[in-house]
Amino acid sequence: MSANIIDGKQLSASIKEQLKSGMIELKNRGITPRLATILVGADAGSMVYAQSQAKTSESIGIEHSIVSIDAGAGQAVLEARIAELNADKSVSGILLSMPLPKGYDAGAAQNLITAHKDVEGVGQANLGALIQGDFTLAPCTAAAAYKCIYAQSAIAVKGAEVVIVGRSAIVGKPLAMMLVYDHATVTICHTATKDMIAHCRRADIVVAAAGKANLVTADYVRPGAVVIDVGINRMKFTDAGGETKTKTVGDVDYEGVSKVASWITPVPGGVGPVTVAMLLSNTVAAAKKFRN
Ligand code: NAD
Repeated sequence: MSANIIDGKQLSASIKEQLKSGMIELKNRGITPRLATILVGADAGSMVYAQSQAKTSESIGIEHSIVSIDAGAGQAVLEARIAELNADKSVSGILLSMPLPKGYDAGAAQNLITAHKDVEGVGQANLGALIQGDFTLAPCTAAAAYKCIYAQSAIAVKGAEVVIVGRSAIVGKPLAMMLVYDHATVTICHTATKDMIAHCRRADIVVAAAGKANLVTADYVRPGAVVIDVGINRMKFTDAGGETKTKTVGDVDYEGVSKVASWITPVPGGVGPVTVAMLLSNTVAAAKKFRN
């Protein structure tokens, strides 16, 4: 068997296209979504990500601004800036770029973002809403994995056994809540789980979100199961010319698992691009919420 591929790039493009075509109607209603990305310090990766957010946002008609704060400014300055953005009527979404430099309390800052501007959906209010079945501002990566599952009508969620490897507050736990809400039976595995392989082999859908390269191998997967790979791991390898290079791999041993699974998301090109689309989708949803 060779698994069908859930194409995240294609899914992301179609979500962005839908958002773009809805933009005219939004603007006619006087709603202009605007995303403000807060960058504390000059972490190279965060800067590249913020610039790419700006480009992608603008490509579908979302205004974007980068709010830079010196690494040494301190928690009080960051919190004051968040308060200003909360009060700014031209800003509909706020994203706090991670990681923050040492000495900052990321959770405290994140929870200061007013709920209807929390486009990453990681504050307590939006996570609470999610438990009650309101997924309007669900965490982007959990929402992306959810979208990947629902992208294929052949994949049934109601009554399915789902095993999620990883219990983070931004991926594993919120995704579990979303799928339980949709009538799946969900097990969350983590570093203290005994016999993870036995849990995974029972699953109709396995979601890997642990941040460990090639953790889920073919023997973890029941033939015909669906496998969603959330992991992003940078791996060094030596190419044919003896040069050391880096490549991105997921938490799933793609080569082995794609021989037994029915559907699989690749890395790169799976959950990652959809996460970006979900950020834009949340930004539009936040702008509508803000207006209301
Ligand atoms: P995290 O480190 O906060 O959580 C990882 C979880 O996995 C923990 O709950 C831990 O208990 C569990 N875990 C770790 N090693 C394990 C093991 N050997 N066996 C069982 N459980 C194990 O990570 P996160 O923020 O949830 O991210 C998870 C992965 O998803 C990372 O690779 C991250 O880079 C990736 N990620 C991808 C996207 C995307 O857009 N695709 C977005 C965010 C995160």
